[in-house]
Amino acid sequence: MCGLLGIIGPYPVANDIICGLTALQHRGQDAAGVVTLSDRFHMKKGAGLVASVFHSEEDSRGLLGNVGLGHVRYATQGTTDAFDAQPFAVNYPFGLAMVHNGNVTNFAGLRERLNTEHHRLVETTNDVELILYTLAAELERKNLKHLTVDDIFASVKTLHGKVEGAYSVITLIAGKGMLAFRDANGIRPLIFGRKQTPDGMSYAFASESTCFDYLDFELVRELGPGEAIFITLDGEVHTWHEATTKNGGAFCAFEFIYFAREDAIMNGTLVARERVKAGRRLAHKIIEAGLKPDIVIDVPSSAYFAASGLAEELGIPYRRALTKNNHVGRSFIVPSQVERQRLVRQKLNPIREVIAGKKVAAVDDSIVRGTTSKHIVRLLRDAGATEVYFVSAAPPILHRCVYGIDMATKKEIIAANFTQEEIRIFLEADAVIYQDLDDLKEIYKDVAGCFACFSGKYPTNVPEETLAVIEAERHLRQSQRVPYGALAGGR
Ligand code: SF4
Repeated sequence: MCGLLGIIGPYPVANDIICGLTALQHRGQDAAGVVTLSDRFHMKKGAGLVASVFHSEEDSRGLLGNVGLGHVRYATQGTTDAFDAQPFAVNYPFGLAMVHNGNVTNFAGLRERLNTEHHRLVETTNDVELILYTLAAELERKNLKHLTVDDIFASVKTLHGKVEGAYSVITLIAGKGMLAFRDANGIRPLIFGRKQTPDGMSYAFASESTCFDYLDFELVRELGPGEAIFITLDGEVHTWHEATTKNGGAFCAFEFIYFAREDAIMNGTLVARERVKAGRRLAHKIIEAGLKPDIVIDVPSSAYFAASGLAEELGIPYRRALTKNNHVGRSFIVPSQVERQRLVRQKLNPIREVIAGKKVAAVDDSIVRGTTSKHIVRLLRDAGATEVYFVSAAPPILHRCVYGIDMATKKEIIAANFTQEEIRIFLEADAVIYQDLDDLKEIYKDVAGCFACFSGKYPTNVPEETLAVIEAERHLRQSQRVPYGALAGGR
């Protein structure tokens, strides 16, 4: 999971990009970077949060030009080194700079092909390099003296045939303009916006509408699965659409459940509204299990809307019973198990008066390893809860994500290895309730979604060797990660 932002306008864009990236910080905290284009590329990137990479005016002063890209990175492929931070750039043809969100699933074959057919050495383990070199190789085949917009879109079309997996991409083509495209299934988000300025129209692409709100951009629409948009340096907008997959796309359901910020608009709907619906849908599971909680609480903060929806549907109070320290990292995406446990304790403090003597339904967005959930159950019991029902707004996660979400290794995913009763015993909860996958699909019936981490039905071809390589990559990253300081999001 990463966050992207690209702006092309009649004014220097660096400050807008840095500001906008802070609104995407929840999508990645491993690294941040910006590239702008004037007569050449100007780039600054490094490990850590946006605020630590760009902490003084000095850091953005050299980022000249009216067109640029920004990226916040959460490493799902490659290492967490600053070396692997995005954007990436290559000087031929024209000069190309690129940012990407997702995960290329045929990286080994692609790397080999780039080497043997195009004589390019892939230097990093970041899959954006593969996409960048593939696009460069396709553009190279065109008449570079008279490159047309059709040539650019034809290059994207060929790239679609070669690059498998999930990718939302924004590219600068020096002297030409800005190109944005999504994979044929539209797995990761990418939106298009504009802003009228006194000097003319400015255009932007981003992962989430949250940064458009900050920057006063109007959300025009999302790019469709397989769609590309090219904006010339003169501000002409050109669009092209690849034929989509049979099911019309496979947008990541987890964006609604957890990844996206609740104030984001995705697939034309407010993320918070979808979370309330998911919470309401859980009520029948509580009733069927014969449970009668006194209160519903959330595990802050991505489960808030699901918890409030469940409370409304059950007709019992919702209370905030766990106070969150926002200056500690997301436990989902931090390093080792020991670090994770320490962070949970630092992060959540129970409010005894709300909890003591009550039967508590504690709603979280999902249960991945179960270790955070177990700790929360313990906190609630220590604070005097008479019974604790742990409720997951997501169905049991049974399979690895290969499209850019580094949840855990298969061995660590608790529901992939234990029954629901075994999970209840492990969590030391009085009950464990999961969302039904059918209910989730019903909630998102208007969205052509990917549900592969619940169902195992991947929307693209994913050979077993690919799963093994991705698993090995995850082990490597886990051994590399270091804890971070103040983060924007939380769970
Ligand atoms: S496998 Fe799960 S997390 Fe990955 S893209 Fe599909 S729904 Fe999203």
